[in-house]
Amino acid sequence: MGKYCLIGHPLGHSVSPMIHSRLFAISGKSGEYTLKDIPTGGLAGAMDELRGLDGFNVTIPYKQDIIPLLDGLDDRARFYHAVNTVRRCGGKLLGSNTDADGFLHALEDAGIELKGSVLLCGAGGVAAMMAAETLRHGCTLTVATRTVGKAMNFISSLKRAFPDADVKSAALPYLSGHYDLILNGTPAGMYPDINISPVPSAVARKAGAVFDAIYNPIETELIKLAKENGAKTACGLRMLVWQAAAAQELWTGAHFTAENIDGICSEMEDFITGRF
Ligand code: NAP
Repeated sequence: MGKYCLIGHPLGHSVSPMIHSRLFAISGKSGEYTLKDIPTGGLAGAMDELRGLDGFNVTIPYKQDIIPLLDGLDDRARFYHAVNTVRRCGGKLLGSNTDADGFLHALEDAGIELKGSVLLCGAGGVAAMMAAETLRHGCTLTVATRTVGKAMNFISSLKRAFPDADVKSAALPYLSGHYDLILNGTPAGMYPDINISPVPSAVARKAGAVFDAIYNPIETELIKLAKENGAKTACGLRMLVWQAAAAQELWTGAHFTAENIDGICSEMEDFITGRF
């Protein structure tokens, strides 16, 4: 049986083992997926044990810290300078990044195109991936953070990677106007503070489409506001399930369809909605 795990700290009540066990059941591959909470400072010391696994996922705060401890990176991991999936290949540990697969599949499943004017809330890890994909698709990008100063380093590094890109900064509380697509890469609206939207409600209501990386709750305040005017919306649960599916594709060669992901998302929705 293949052995896999998720490393991070703190891991709390991660839903990843449930998602991976459903994916193993669908693919018919045999695998065990566990959680390994590694306290701060303990990553290097855990590598011998991790080398004994067939693969593992990486989450906060180790997505960058793991890089020097690996034997190589694929193009995606190098591009985002972040690793969320590691596979063992001929005794070597190779780092990949399947978060973008998850994000792009989630948009596609909801019929949302990555084009036009995009407002990105946040300048952290998931926001960096969404910003790079937005610019790779030729959109204009406004990066909105709690205070404008917070976005300066973030925008400078985007401009180094995409010198011709049209990128502006803005402060979340003072936003106005229409955007073709709003992407939320902040925890604003996450359980238990579920009545918060990262952008003023007038901006959310005018959005052409919304993707919210939050998956708890499934329908965030931002998504509810955008739906009032019939905007297309997509939630973080689909991204989470697709990135896990893409990790298993790397580990085992399995292939998953949108219908497979639909089934897992509805089970996970019931679980998440019932639990909180
Ligand atoms: P992160 O690296 O810590 O970045 C968080 C960003 O949000 C920072 O720019 C932070 O800005 C900002 N922020 C924090 N609290 C805020 C608030 N109340 N209002 C406005 N901005 C706020 O975190 P991350 O890993 O990118 O995760 C961000 C969100 O995405 C989380 O909800 C996480 O659960 C979700 N996520 C989902 C998936 C998925 O597969 N669906 C994957 C990864 C992450 P400051 O510097 O001002 O604090």
